[in-house]
Amino acid sequence: MKTKILTLGLCAALHLAWAQTGGGEFKFQSAECLSPEARAQVQKMLENNRQQLQKEGKLMAKNGLVTPLFSWPVKKSSGAPYNEVWSISNYVDHNPNFPNLLQDYNCGTRTYDTSAGYNHAGIDIFTWPFGWYQMDYNQSEVIAAAPGVILAKSNGNYDRNCAFNSSNWNAVYIQHSDGSVAWYGHLKNNSVTTKSVGQSVAEGEYLGIVGSSGNSTGPHLHFEVYNSNNQLVDPYQGACNTWASATQSWWQNQKNYNNPKINSISTHSGEVILNNGCGVQETTLFKNAFNAGETVYAYLFLSDIAAGAPVNFQLIRPDNSVGYNNTFNMPQFYTASYWYYSVPASYFGQSGAWKATVTVNGMTQIHNFTYGVLSVAEGQTNESPIKVVNPVKNQQIQIEYQGKANQEYTLEIYSMEGRLINKRKIILRKGLNQLPFHGARGQYIMKISAEHFEETFKLLH
Ligand SMILES: [Zn+2]
Repeated sequence: MKTKILTLGLCAALHLAWAQTGGGEFKFQSAECLSPEARAQVQKMLENNRQQLQKEGKLMAKNGLVTPLFSWPVKKSSGAPYNEVWSISNYVDHNPNFPNLLQDYNCGTRTYDTSAGYNHAGIDIFTWPFGWYQMDYNQSEVIAAAPGVILAKSNGNYDRNCAFNSSNWNAVYIQHSDGSVAWYGHLKNNSVTTKSVGQSVAEGEYLGIVGSSGNSTGPHLHFEVYNSNNQLVDPYQGACNTWASATQSWWQNQKNYNNPKINSISTHSGEVILNNGCGVQETTLFKNAFNAGETVYAYLFLSDIAAGAPVNFQLIRPDNSVGYNNTFNMPQFYTASYWYYSVPASYFGQSGAWKATVTVNGMTQIHNFTYGVLSVAEGQTNESPIKVVNPVKNQQIQIEYQGKANQEYTLEIYSMEGRLINKRKIILRKGLNQLPFHGARGQYIMKISAEHFEETFKLLH
């Protein structure tokens, strides 16, 4: 995966005297998904399992007439902070020739092949934004597109690949009542359904987490389908899907070829890093509660927006007036793109509940954040390893610590107005820690943070 930085045109830049704006394409690279040898092995395994399950009476009777009607196999996990989590990188390649001779069901080229003669046999649904982060936090689930019986599953394979390789994937294979089979590949290691081979799954049932096991360039689902005669199926109906199985769409509601989406609008404490290297979690810097004096980074994550489409970004003040209003046109069609605004502290004349909004293609998404209103943990949560014992005693902040021993944290102390008074690195030992503090008597806000940890406390002196 590589990220290309584009800057917006001059026109947009002029309106953005204060806001450094940038963004561009996020390119999800294609990999073979499954080598011919691996595919042959899978087929053999499926045939063995089919015979075994038939003997055990665990497969539904074949009903050759009714092919399944799929629902969408990727879903946002509950609580994940996005609007949508996916985009499509590749459809099935219907052009049997190669290399670079491509035709998807819609007569386009949103697919790929290889010089070795592999024509992409499935649909690649990649997670966007923050694919590795989503994988690490189980934010995008693979769910059964149709009910059936687990014909096979594989687990235990490394899941942070980002290039061609010959390693095996984690996958679930579901046989439907008509004898057709859907393959769900590249799942996160140890996320695969705990159900056994031979057990039934319902439509929409959890199968695993989108991952990057096997021949994969990044977290995505490879969804591949075979009919009851073991012939490859493209579930999409379209002018260039001439296979016999395409007399009707295999989707309940076939999605459009392009699916314009606002995947997310979010605020961050700095510039995010979308590519930290192979298999390495992105730097997300999510932040929704800003102290006075802080810069806000607002990000838009889009997919499949047409070239030239206007994208409108606004900041809405706590009194509901429009504080900032910028429209730019999509420079190009991208399956995934990001756009960001850095908004300096001087801009935030009102403290309170702000909104960032994006409108494109008739869709609007709103993100809420606060500025200049510190959210203070009055009562301490049970999970927190840090407990502040107020008040400050003998000019020493009292911290009870039950986390990892000798962990380094960043300590920041703010006035109640949000002015930074002191910032330093601290090391916390288990038990009572005392940290010198020489501020005047009064109330303060104390922030303690480390990687993936941030908590704010009230400090009484
Ligand atoms: Zn694929």
